[in-house]
Amino acid sequence: MEATIDKPSTRSGHPTGLYVLFFTEMWERFSYYGMRAILLLFLIDNVRGGMGLTTSEGAAIYGIYTASVYLLSLPGGWIADNLLGQRKSIWYGGLIIMLGHIILAFPSDKAIFYLGLAVVAMGTGLLKPNISTIVGELYPEGGARRDAGFSIFYMGINLGSLLGITIVGYLGQKVGWHYGFGAAAVGMGLGMITFRTLGQRYLSQHGNEPRKAETSEATTSGGSKALIGFMGAVVAILVALQLTGVLDLTTAQGLAQAMGAIISLTALGYFAYILLAGGLDTVETKRVSVLFIFFLAAAVYWAGNEQQGSSLQIFADRHTDLTFFGWQIPSSWFQNLNSGFILLFSPVLAGLWIFLANRNINYSVPAKMATSLLLLGMAYVVMIFASEQAITGVRTSPLYLGFTYLLFTLGELFLSPVGLSSFTKLAPKRYASQLMGIWFVGSSLGNLVAGLFAGGFDEENVAQMPSLFQSVAIFSLGAGVLLLLFVKPLRKWMGGIQ
Ligand code: GLU
Repeated sequence: MEATIDKPSTRSGHPTGLYVLFFTEMWERFSYYGMRAILLLFLIDNVRGGMGLTTSEGAAIYGIYTASVYLLSLPGGWIADNLLGQRKSIWYGGLIIMLGHIILAFPSDKAIFYLGLAVVAMGTGLLKPNISTIVGELYPEGGARRDAGFSIFYMGINLGSLLGITIVGYLGQKVGWHYGFGAAAVGMGLGMITFRTLGQRYLSQHGNEPRKAETSEATTSGGSKALIGFMGAVVAILVALQLTGVLDLTTAQGLAQAMGAIISLTALGYFAYILLAGGLDTVETKRVSVLFIFFLAAAVYWAGNEQQGSSLQIFADRHTDLTFFGWQIPSSWFQNLNSGFILLFSPVLAGLWIFLANRNINYSVPAKMATSLLLLGMAYVVMIFASEQAITGVRTSPLYLGFTYLLFTLGELFLSPVGLSSFTKLAPKRYASQLMGIWFVGSSLGNLVAGLFAGGFDEENVAQMPSLFQSVAIFSLGAGVLLLLFVKPLRKWMGGIQ
């Protein structure tokens, strides 16, 4: 049954349920980004009770972890669509995340620590796609109002990230690693309390039931067989890569590369399955094909954006002038520019979308995503200039990095909240959460590529920096131009959905 339209119950005209989801997700992101901010530092620290791994091992583990978190959104979405519904998935997901952070909060050995990470990743996979799907359900009429709702929701994400990086980062680095991990558990606990107490009242029936009833038995059993066949094929490919020496699965870097292969095969396999055997009609087939293109754009975008934690972090640390009125700014603070700019510009862009919609000016989603990739490319053009200066041995002005962050963060606002909203509009209802999961698989791939790319930034090889940044710039600008060429057909295939 279709959800009933919520009466706007706040002055801004958005349902109160949006704010319940806003604060739940804010606390979840507090725990995620907070923990993530200290994770790599903890893994490679051998002075303050960290794990003492080498930088490349630590970076590979970090890449595998962040990629798994988003990859697990796909099964997390499937569980909501087929077994639990979104509400229960969010609830159990949150509890599992909290349990994971509690495991991390107690000093232990490596195996237990990795178990804690795996538990956080599984819980996040269950929570993350499903909370976004419910945001979409609050606006059954779709349209620009839903886009604006997602922009507000996105501010919650970034407020959580800002607070998490600041508080968990401070506790972890200045007081003790495990206090930081503990603070992440407390944050997730606050999110759960918010969701439980206010969700009952303000989320009505949204997300209470799985949509499985709308999928035929034949499709479901076909799905199980396809899944088993797919997993067999992935294992066979990995074994072949190992035996031919293409990958070395006994090293962290080899595992990270294998993870890249698994993510790509999963996304391609999933789209092939749903398009060929998902029981879609012609309109749905076209819309899901559009989602495939959006997925590719997202993967390219996040591969550039997520270099905040990898190559751009290294550049901030080693090549940027960090003195500010005689005070040394912690290099990791640059990462807060991303959430800061998002909080600043979200209302501006949300207002712009409504303004354009009211005047019937159609700035379509594919055009916005192409803009996003072009902005990302321009951000890396700035980095080419910055790195050309840096290789002469001077520390560059922080304005370079500041401007780079500004450009790609604007790009994020043209892609990320817009993409979330489009996935809720274009996905067939019975596949809503799993397709939302696939959107995050794009992030998963991007995170991994960003991690692996940073491997080229070793201190011995500083001279190659401009050409590395140049390759990101060319790739992003090229992808943006290519997407621009497809705006018209994509709009047609979206079939009237804006
Ligand atoms: N900053 C966004 C979030 O945490 C990124 C999500 C994504 O990678 O798609 O939700």
